[in-house]
Amino acid sequence: MNAASSQPPIRAVVVPVTPLQQNCTIVWCAETKKAAVIDPGGEVPRLLDAVRQQGLTVEKIWVTHGHLDHAGGTAELQEATGAVVEGPHPEDQFWIAQMAEMGARWGLPEARIFTPDRWLDDGDKVTLGNTEFEVFHCPGHTPGHVIFFNRLARFAQVGDVLFRGSIGRTDFPRGNHADLIASITRKLWPLGDDVRFVPGHGPMSSFGEERRSNPFVADQVLAHS
Ligand SMILES: [Zn+2]
Ligand SMILES: [Zn+2]
Repeated sequence: MNAASSQPPIRAVVVPVTPLQQNCTIVWCAETKKAAVIDPGGEVPRLLDAVRQQGLTVEKIWVTHGHLDHAGGTAELQEATGAVVEGPHPEDQFWIAQMAEMGARWGLPEARIFTPDRWLDDGDKVTLGNTEFEVFHCPGHTPGHVIFFNRLARFAQVGDVLFRGSIGRTDFPRGNHADLIASITRKLWPLGDDVRFVPGHGPMSSFGEERRSNPFVADQVLAHS
């Protein structure tokens, strides 16, 4: 058995947070019980309860992109746990800078600005206990959106890039539809049809299922566009 395939398995639970029902995902290394909270949009006390129930230590906070519902609770969770904040890509700094203002506007007054300990870029790796995730820069919904992929577990957290039966909005400032389609087809699809993913909102799916049936990015749809 080589070093890569001897990595311990990961586990994950999804905790939808904020009125936008954003899929905050708690992932952990089964061997060390070290956890990463991906996209802590809000409701931090609930997230801490979920962490406690599983007996985990929060080591990392991973942020896919700078939108309020994904990142609004980052500062509070960092203070509560001392975890290292990794992501998003620096192109999303302009979104993070508007966090408090957006929070006031959308009824999430606890949302605050934060500074990542580490900005991420395409090809970066982030570690969690004895396991690691690969980072892919997937612009389109926001210019600095990243996704997190565990190759051995065939698992990805893709934020608002791709949903079951839909794709991310691109009508926000600096959104770009062509970039989003390219992110999906050139960054996500090559990871494999068998990869299961948690989207930013709604139920899980697999890349293969979306390539068959997604009305925006199925192979058949793109072949005729
Ligand atoms: Zn978003
Ligand atoms: Zn979202």
